[in-house]
Amino acid sequence: MEYNVKSLKAEEFIHDGEIRETVRYAEEHKHDIQLIDRILEKAKERKGLSHREASVLLACDLPDKIKEIYDLAEQIKKDFYGNRIVLFAPLYLSNYCVNGCLYCPYHLKNKHIPRKKLTQEEVAREVIALQDMGHKRLAIESGEDPVNNPIEYILECIKTIYSIKHKNGAIRRVNVNIAATTVENYRKLKDAGIGTYILFQETYNKKNYEILHPTGPKHNYDYHTEAMDRAMEGGIDDVGIGVLFGLDNYQYEFAGLLMHAEHLEAVHGVGPHTISVPRVKHADDIDPNEFDNSLSDEMFCKIAACIRIAVPYTGMIISTRETAEVREKIIRLGVSQISGGSRTSVGGYCEEERPHDTEQFDVSDNRTLDEVVNWLMRIGYIPSFCTACYREGRTGDRFMSLCKSGQIQNCCHPNALMTLKEFLLDYASEDTRKIGEEMIQQEIDNIPKEKVREIVRERLQKIEQGDRDFRF
Ligand code: SAM
Repeated sequence: MEYNVKSLKAEEFIHDGEIRETVRYAEEHKHDIQLIDRILEKAKERKGLSHREASVLLACDLPDKIKEIYDLAEQIKKDFYGNRIVLFAPLYLSNYCVNGCLYCPYHLKNKHIPRKKLTQEEVAREVIALQDMGHKRLAIESGEDPVNNPIEYILECIKTIYSIKHKNGAIRRVNVNIAATTVENYRKLKDAGIGTYILFQETYNKKNYEILHPTGPKHNYDYHTEAMDRAMEGGIDDVGIGVLFGLDNYQYEFAGLLMHAEHLEAVHGVGPHTISVPRVKHADDIDPNEFDNSLSDEMFCKIAACIRIAVPYTGMIISTRETAEVREKIIRLGVSQISGGSRTSVGGYCEEERPHDTEQFDVSDNRTLDEVVNWLMRIGYIPSFCTACYREGRTGDRFMSLCKSGQIQNCCHPNALMTLKEFLLDYASEDTRKIGEEMIQQEIDNIPKEKVREIVRERLQKIEQGDRDFRF
């Protein structure tokens, strides 16, 4: 079996030999200054790097070069994503699961976790609670259970979510994180109007994958790894990939992740829309120390910087698995989306206190959405509730060409300001509103086109008068 980026077989496009050779090559060249400089020069063209080149940067431990890597990541992030950070929240629908994943508390053998699945009335209540916080974008999460959570259940929930219009609230984009499924089911999700289909690989190392997923449908590595190809065949062109850092060694995962992105680009003409970088956390029945590949905060940040440089057009997501401190560092190096005010339990948003019994993992950032918005602005970022792209048909390669043409600043920037304005008027505390209004006034001047600036001023006034949902 040979490495073949265009193959549709998991073990050929995520080729174990190629990954091992890449990690070896990176280790051998980690002090090769000439090579590192050549790679950094190439990266400055902002067209990305191969998995081998990016792996050399990740392995390099020369302080001067690490600084250059960080500076470049920061600059690329600014060029492509400006100072905007998109906000979202996870919504847990059901923790029924037939899989045996060793790191996840929802595993079938966990008998002391209460099992819960939201009814449509409960979904509506959760959505109202999320809308009352100010959220416009959700990622729905569910265990895998063909009897309790069949695709029809997921589709019904999506319909309910989109149908709730509470006060000025609305969920305008539903991303979906459910187990690998068939082309037919992906087509149904596409028809239901989902944003991104997200599926974490967990680990790219097949041997370890099979040990970590000893039972259930998820045990099938090939079926799981080829899921994004089926999703794209089913018409979903925004897909989100990721690994659960801590399960295997990070050098292996990093190369695998980039090879997956290269594969999607080579076969479908468009790479992943987002990359998530979750780290394994403590949860009921789960001790992260059992996984001896845990990652230091420092290396975690370096991985984010190297991803930013390697795939400049791919959004990067970080969740409330991370503390405020780590989030601040990593946002600067390339993250474009974060969750805020998250509850990782089934039905958690309707509870006064954060419930633990059905939680998927411990949340490290426990601030409210208003506090996260306030904090982002204080450290210089525009919190964005924008959901315009897929609603305007800018998915897949159409989104990528918006990025590549540099028009993002005339489009995403105004959308961020207008959706922030909605948040300030409808949901923010007094202090947040004050900082936000000042930020909007300053940031209007950073819209390059005069005509767009004028339209934005008019629309901001209309939002003030009660209109909602303007977008470019
Ligand atoms: N059940 C679906 C599947 O198997 O792909 C997806 C939904 S699952 C609720 C979302 C993700 O949570 C998983 O893909 C896994 O990476 C992550 N996860 C599971 N256990 C975790 C833990 N202990 N700490 C951090 N993340 C965890």
